[in-house]
Amino acid sequence: MQQTLDMLIFAAHPDDAEIGMGGTIIKHARAGRKVGIIDLTAAELSSNGDVATRRQEAAEASGKLGISVRENLGLPDRGLSLAREQLDAVVSAIRRHRPRYVFAPYFIDRHPDHVACSRLVEEAVFNARLRRYRPEEAAWTMEAFFYYFINDLHPPGIIVDITDVQAGKMEALRAYRSQFAPASGSIDDWVETPLTNQYLEMVEARDRLLGQPHRLAFAEGFVAKGPIRLDWFL
Ligand SMILES: [Zn+2]
Repeated sequence: MQQTLDMLIFAAHPDDAEIGMGGTIIKHARAGRKVGIIDLTAAELSSNGDVATRRQEAAEASGKLGISVRENLGLPDRGLSLAREQLDAVVSAIRRHRPRYVFAPYFIDRHPDHVACSRLVEEAVFNARLRRYRPEEAAWTMEAFFYYFINDLHPPGIIVDITDVQAGKMEALRAYRSQFAPASGSIDDWVETPLTNQYLEMVEARDRLLGQPHRLAFAEGFVAKGPIRLDWFL
């Protein structure tokens, strides 16, 4: 049986987890917590780069984040759905890694894959705890479920101070050169996308905005699914 992860983050594409919560990941990994990221697709339909490059970039980013686990489930880019085989792939991942906390993209986002990932993980978390659902695997119930933001900014219910690790987050994001680098004369098969147009500056600006209510230089925001137990913090 694999060791229990403290945090398991699901993402539609390699780089989603870094965009939304790279700072929170670094902070907890440095504190000795076991953190894993599971990318559902290889982003094979991404306008720039290719699957092999993206895989290398994700490995480099994982090293900078200090995480214990990174997997790719190989589900179809732009084809995420609640189809039984996709649901079961996510259920198995949850049961394999036995996370205390699960994170998924927020359910409103301009990219439909992020929304589909959110929905799929919600369903999988539910099924993972049913002992009679695919009984050949041990059922698993996580303690809490949180959403992180990828493209959009929504009012967060929870923020995490990432002031000390924001530079590390940006470094992990810069590992995805095929996605975020502006046009370069040496790349011919390249198109401009929202990601190549100062996207990382936008991420940094959002981290600043999220820190503002608590006068933090940088923060990341989350929304909890279900009530959070206040007695955990008192
Ligand atoms: Zn994405």
